[in-house]
Amino acid sequence: MTKSQAIDLQAKWKQQDPPPLCEHLKVESERNVDGDVTDHNHCTVCGQSVPR
Ligand SMILES: [Zn+2]
Repeated sequence: MTKSQAIDLQAKWKQQDPPPLCEHLKVESERNVDGDVTDHNHCTVCGQSVPR
């Protein structure tokens, strides 16, 4: 996913009241606009950045 997709996911997740606890079971590498993998991973459910 791209960084903006991750930010979108985070925003949607935070709109839930209260936000559910996410265990970040599924993570995906962040990619820049050129499609290259960056040093960051993001949870595909909540968008939070997750350490590798
Ligand atoms: Zn998560």
